[in-house]
Amino acid sequence: MQATTELEPTVRIRELTKDKVNFVLENVDLAFANSFRRVMMADLPTVAIDMVEIEVNTTVLPDEYIAHRLGMIPLLSSNCDEAIRYTRDCTCLAGCPFCSITLMLHVSCNDNNTMDVTSNHLEVLPFPEDQDIQADPGEELSKRGEYFGHPVGKNDPNAEPVLICKIRKGQELKVKCTVKKGIAKEHAKWSPCSAVAFEYDPYNKLRHTSYWYETDVRQEWPLGDNAKEEEAPRDDEPFDYLAKPTKFYLDVETDGSLSPQEVVMKGLAELQQKLANLIYGLKQGPELENQQQANGTGAEPSWNISSTAPAPAPIPPTSAWSGGASSQWGNTSPGQRSTSNAGWGASPQAGAWSSGATAGWSSPGQQSNGWNV
Ligand SMILES: [Zn+2]
Repeated sequence: MQATTELEPTVRIRELTKDKVNFVLENVDLAFANSFRRVMMADLPTVAIDMVEIEVNTTVLPDEYIAHRLGMIPLLSSNCDEAIRYTRDCTCLAGCPFCSITLMLHVSCNDNNTMDVTSNHLEVLPFPEDQDIQADPGEELSKRGEYFGHPVGKNDPNAEPVLICKIRKGQELKVKCTVKKGIAKEHAKWSPCSAVAFEYDPYNKLRHTSYWYETDVRQEWPLGDNAKEEEAPRDDEPFDYLAKPTKFYLDVETDGSLSPQEVVMKGLAELQQKLANLIYGLKQGPELENQQQANGTGAEPSWNISSTAPAPAPIPPTSAWSGGASSQWGNTSPGQRSTSNAGWGASPQAGAWSSGATAGWSSPGQQSNGWNV
């Protein structure tokens, strides 16, 4: 069993290459290790092609096929959180250098050999200077590396480019692509990781899994390399049902858009930010509830409180939390929760609420939907 004193979390790097890091994380909770894995996979921003205008396509592949392939091409995204804005946060009307990058691809085949159209044919277009930019100025451009937004491997003679399609004599492909910032929760093309391997308890001492086998479990489930890090259980060892995993083996492989160091460090920072938002939201709750009572309840629908929540609410759900009133949760369907405050006011449901506020709220279905905690 573990000693009663809490041990400090440690990280031991076993292997580090250009696009992969393998490390052992110790003395953390299983929930933390798994959250860390999920944040690295799905919550780190990168840039990817999000819109494709097909100008000429006489290849054998349909437009949609090519657009999808273009979206999946990894683009260099180092320092993406500071170097580019989300389009939804930008004040421009139709794209600007602070929230988008334009890539152009124009290839035609004029000889008898089959020609490969690859990610190396994508060229970054400078944003036209004469265009009237409606966005607020920012310092994003100064935080970009030289090749930000370029396809991964384009400037590296040893890297194999990504094949988009093959063309023969007389065929042509001309497309204009708009690159945007996003995270993999929106679409997997924005994930900086191609794989994150995660393992703990290689001997299954904790019995978190049960193996299916025919005759001999040990022969049919050979041990991996991580088993060398741990002591094999004795055959007569009693099952410790209170034991918890403390040692986690992670292998983070990126697609080249971010370096493995950046993925791990930004992953930790992102997880810290999420937890800070949660603490902030929970602390805000009672104060706002008191405010609401001071303002006089009943006539005022509680969802109006959201608009009086502190202005720089870090994530949308936080503002919902900081609304504090339990009745708010009870009445908000998942779809409505995810929309903006402005959307609520305009939606027909919101109108219905304010007209029949008390009657609607006390309906049994809404009270028993599990959100009133
Ligand atoms: Zn913009």
